[in-house]
Amino acid sequence: MERNTTARVIPLADANVMSVRDAPRVAPTGWVADTRGRALRDLRISVTDRCNFRCIYCMPKDVFGRDYPFLPHADLLTFEEIARLARVFKAHGVQKLRLTGGEPLLRKRVERLIEMLAEIGGLDLTLTTNGALLAQKARELKAAGLDRVTVSLDALDDQVFRAMNDMDFPVAKVLAGIDAAAEAGLAPIKINMVVKRGMNEREILPMARRFKDTGHILRFIEYMDVGHTNGWRMDDVVPSSEVLRIIGEALPVEPIEPNYRGEVAERWRYVDGGGEIGVISSVTQAFCRDCTRARLSTDGKLYTCLFATRGFDLRALLREGSDDDRISDAIAAIWRQRGDRYSEIRSENTAKLPKIEMSYIGG
Ligand code: SAM
Repeated sequence: MERNTTARVIPLADANVMSVRDAPRVAPTGWVADTRGRALRDLRISVTDRCNFRCIYCMPKDVFGRDYPFLPHADLLTFEEIARLARVFKAHGVQKLRLTGGEPLLRKRVERLIEMLAEIGGLDLTLTTNGALLAQKARELKAAGLDRVTVSLDALDDQVFRAMNDMDFPVAKVLAGIDAAAEAGLAPIKINMVVKRGMNEREILPMARRFKDTGHILRFIEYMDVGHTNGWRMDDVVPSSEVLRIIGEALPVEPIEPNYRGEVAERWRYVDGGGEIGVISSVTQAFCRDCTRARLSTDGKLYTCLFATRGFDLRALLREGSDDDRISDAIAAIWRQRGDRYSEIRSENTAKLPKIEMSYIGG
């Protein structure tokens, strides 16, 4: 089967990006801006393209079946390569690292990687997980130096949840994982719920009630047209405005200020002091203007947008023996030529463009 994660990878030697390969020295100053003046602040690292769930909107079984050509181990960035790149990214201003995937807890000895990243110092270290292995791993992750976790959970109703993860995985185990993460001190815990029309919008209010007064921050994510395997249609998107109306009618909420410029989630709080929720409106209210995120795929390609169609091969640079200055210059050059603003120009037509799968590029 043809890999459908390979929209187009640009080897740095490609004539189109000579400017990147032969980029002039840009001594890192902790600030590099793209063509729209956006800084490089966050790096998401996909540590595996494999997952133990087959969420119908992300890795549908009919595409990601038994014969799906996941990356062989030799193609994955090693922990040493990831840590080396992380240091260089930090020098250009990255403050936050998020490990993701695929399911990051499936990567063998991921705690060791976290230790190596924690040794760099001064980075906010987080991880996004489906929670299946969290109950057994939470304490080790914290001990290794992880600061926080985000857990994806799309429903409380066991039947709905099992149908959405399509592996018949019970919700109780994810809830146990969330409790274990809280006990281990991986807080504040964020819980991400993707809302898909006709699938789980009835779960909005039960989820809100379940996590109100717990200190966890529940965030509702609009269903997006990532990749090209999920058959996305605009009609399947439940706009954040609708989510807020459903919650607000039962549990009054009011908006609060963002923590920082460019924060992805719009923050709201319960009027009675029951805590905070968030809405991530990447479809109905694009936030490209403030996007400071880069993504490193499992095999070391750098993507400057979740909806990118091309990546830059940093692994090639690493494996041909480039020194840190060379890698640093390439990263600066890639970022400086970045102009992506996909979510602002999205339409039913752009949704059909070839795009990278989220499991590979990192959610
Ligand atoms: N396996 C981990 C997990 O489940 O959190 C990390 C990877 S997963 C791709 C990261 C996040 O992306 C999850 O919260 C998932 O729900 C979200 N996601 C995947 N496909 C999506 C889509 N089409 N629209 C919106 N969010 C999506």
